[in-house]
Amino acid sequence: MNERWSQLSFEDRMATVEFRVGERAHITVDSDICRSCTTKDCVVACPANLFAPTADGGILFNYEECFECGTCYQVCNSEGAITWTYPDGGQGVVFRRG
Ligand code: SF4
Ligand code: SF4
Repeated sequence: MNERWSQLSFEDRMATVEFRVGERAHITVDSDICRSCTTKDCVVACPANLFAPTADGGILFNYEECFECGTCYQVCNSEGAITWTYPDGGQGVVFRRG
């Protein structure tokens, strides 16, 4: 990491990220399965804060500003709760550095 990049604030770094939002959700979350999940690990693990607990114990999920890091898929212990694919070609997150 060069010095110029390391001195940038989080907000400035995020300003270099672009999201090309596809019509097809590349990640879907089955809120019915989430209702029986007691840990809700995805809520704290997602660096983009895309998982929001709902009052009925489920999860509200928004795929649009996803970094495609795969963390949610790794931490989720409930089979079938998360369906994860990459966005369609040319869409998704774009990191522009420098
Ligand atoms: S996505 Fe996985 S970790 Fe998150 S609430 Fe649903 S079952 Fe739990
Ligand atoms: S892939 Fe990463 S950024 Fe996208 S929803 Fe999962 S944890 Fe969040």
